[in-house]
Amino acid sequence: MRIAVVEGDGIGKEVIPVARDALELLRPDFEFFPVEAGYGRWQRTGTAIDEEEIAMLRSADSILFGAVTTPPDPGYRSVIVRIRKELDLYANIRPVKGEGFEMVIVRENTEGLYSGIETVEEDRACTLRCITRKGSERIARYACRLAVSRRDLTVGHKANVLKSDVFFRNICIEQAELAGVPWKEGYIDALCLDVLQHPGRYDVIVTTNLFGDILSDVAAYLAGGLGLLPSANIGDRNALFEPVHGSAPDIAGRNVANPVAALRSAAMLLGHAGDPCGAAVIEEAITRVLARGVRTRDLGGSSGTREFGTEILREIRLLQK
Ligand code: ATP
Repeated sequence: MRIAVVEGDGIGKEVIPVARDALELLRPDFEFFPVEAGYGRWQRTGTAIDEEEIAMLRSADSILFGAVTTPPDPGYRSVIVRIRKELDLYANIRPVKGEGFEMVIVRENTEGLYSGIETVEEDRACTLRCITRKGSERIARYACRLAVSRRDLTVGHKANVLKSDVFFRNICIEQAELAGVPWKEGYIDALCLDVLQHPGRYDVIVTTNLFGDILSDVAAYLAGGLGLLPSANIGDRNALFEPVHGSAPDIAGRNVANPVAALRSAAMLLGHAGDPCGAAVIEEAITRVLARGVRTRDLGGSSGTREFGTEILREIRLLQK
């Protein structure tokens, strides 16, 4: 198995080495190779990512990705949005677990408001929200495949206002009926509140690109913060695993970032690679380290990123015995 490792910018450079060490320890048979991309590279070379790196990512069996900073520069195109589009990683999967609930947010990842179809003129700027049948059907099918072995599907949309969401909603419901999956629906704004108030009501939630982005950050509150949440970006040929959080420039380089989201992303990578036992070992190591009170600052502790990583490796070794 060949794993491309993109640390990216900011805390990506701190949390990804921890996740990679855990993977290396569990899977000495994996081959890792670094791929440089992000704002740092753009500042140095004038390009954030090139065709060559895209080809390297395409050739990998899986990608472990940190985070990239996207500056508010009109000439800068988001690296992660480009990778998702070029590799057609259409399904963004974000599991959120906590006391009494376990939901999975399935976000369409390639179109909607992140289609990249934009114009900026002097007196107006436009972003086209493009929702296609192909894009909606495949994300709906993906969500239904997950929901079939679980409880139900919730479709999150704003069909009372947006014609494009009437289209998306109808396709999702069509697919749920075809798959025999019980479904319900909610307006995305009300859904954000209800997910916080009654998380146990939700199982698999499918929604469009921007709404899914926002909903998963909202749901992060339930799980104890951004530092804990992993995600997967899945396509038919490639898969990329990354923490939900960004590059957090405010805390970068200070050894205070929480590496749990990156570790859980590595666990998702193992699950996708057909190694659910390896994934479970990482999850168990995290549970044990947190239970011992070893925590980073965002969780009220004083442990550094590296020190937390050392404890994780120790637990993994114990679990392997
Ligand atoms: P970007 O522009 O790359 O999205 P951002 O700072 O806007 O970066 P995030 O990186 O998602 O957005 O971070 C938001 C805040 O959450 C950060 O300012 C940071 O304080 C906190 N945070 C995010 N990830 C972590 C983490 N792994 N550990 C601790 N705190 C984190």
